[in-house]
Amino acid sequence: MTPEERAQLVERDKKSVWHPYTPMDEYRRSGQPLVIERASGSRLYDADGRSIIDGNASWWTSLLGHNHPRLVKALQLQSEKLCHTSLAGVTHEPAVQFAEAILAHAPPGLSHVFFSDNGSTAVEAALKMAVQYWAQHSVSTQKKTRFLSLEGAFHGDTLGVTALGGVSAFRAPFASLTMPTVHLPSPAVDMERALDALEDELKRGADSIAALVLEPLIQGAGGMLIYKDEYLIQARKMCTQYDVLLILDEVFTGYGRTGKFWACSHSGISPDIVATAKGLSGGLLPFAATLASSKIFDGFLGDASRAFYYGHTYCGNPLGARIATEVLSVYEDEQVIERSQTSVLAIEKFFKKMSQKNGVTNARSLGMCGALNLGQGEGYLERGGWKVFDLALARGAYVRPLGNVVYLTPPLNIPSEDLRSLLQIVEESVNEVLES
Ligand code: PMP
Repeated sequence: MTPEERAQLVERDKKSVWHPYTPMDEYRRSGQPLVIERASGSRLYDADGRSIIDGNASWWTSLLGHNHPRLVKALQLQSEKLCHTSLAGVTHEPAVQFAEAILAHAPPGLSHVFFSDNGSTAVEAALKMAVQYWAQHSVSTQKKTRFLSLEGAFHGDTLGVTALGGVSAFRAPFASLTMPTVHLPSPAVDMERALDALEDELKRGADSIAALVLEPLIQGAGGMLIYKDEYLIQARKMCTQYDVLLILDEVFTGYGRTGKFWACSHSGISPDIVATAKGLSGGLLPFAATLASSKIFDGFLGDASRAFYYGHTYCGNPLGARIATEVLSVYEDEQVIERSQTSVLAIEKFFKKMSQKNGVTNARSLGMCGALNLGQGEGYLERGGWKVFDLALARGAYVRPLGNVVYLTPPLNIPSEDLRSLLQIVEESVNEVLES
């Protein structure tokens, strides 16, 4: 693409495209979007021919790198046979194969796979499962329809899951419409307070609570807030004791981001329901799954009025399912998580070093995720991280921030030389911001 063609494309974009999470007034006046033409491995290539290291795995999806040849091949082959069919009263090999494969990887006790097409719908399905499950089973005199989630949580953008969100920028405009949810103190801030508050809430209100919903170990979009697995262990015990379901949202943390396939595997617990998306289809197609235990699944058996009347047009889409099965094979054949351990250590060492710098607070890491805060301001609308973003981009790395939080979530199989360059670029860019 010539510079003129690039400029024209951006001009056309500004006339017709409404971008996500983007103040469009500012964008239309001065926004200079990256124009990406192609991608491969851990690199994005833009219209000016620049090669950019993807420190974000493109919204945490391309965990095997961009355009992994086996995934592209699987997509090609499947597209020649069957691109789409409904999954109501119909089945196909890709859906069955993937369901079997993911259940073989799932935390113990999960027995059935419900398909949808993104992280929000995977959690949304989990919420509806929980509410209807209790409507058909609860012996409580009250309706079990309330949810518990964490301050700083993010579970997606559909109206149902918006209620669970603990980030005000995403929830506030819709606050008058959202369903009853208690946002509990986060264990990433104060473990003891978080556990006490959870127990208090369960003691007081379990009769009307359907489920506790958690992002296990890392609260992602809320600012890469990391907490210890002790919270998951205690939360599991309490949910069982008070007869409240435990829903884990592994949309970001699943598929090896935290160093194990599922974040909940660090604690050895099993939830009643798990939502998974993003890395599950390797950044090729929108595809998601909600895995339920046999207790939940069996709760919908019986006469027709007890069925789960829920589904999205593209749920179980054969292209997505075929890719998702290939993703799991690649994890096994290429020992993706095992081999990421060297990068995990490099990221850990890097963020420890960054924690020594004046102006950096709360540098932290877990698995293939590291983060630091710049300055004291908190919240999604802070601008500190964007200064680092601009400087890093000029040096050849894409590190989209969350307010003042600068974080790295590269592909799990990022080559060591790319990781080295990425860390160096982030260090230089952070230094420049701190010195300015
Ligand atoms: N849950 C978590 C933990 C997420 O991080 C996200 C997306 N960032 C979602 C749900 C929503 O996923 P999607 O954007 O695919 O709807």
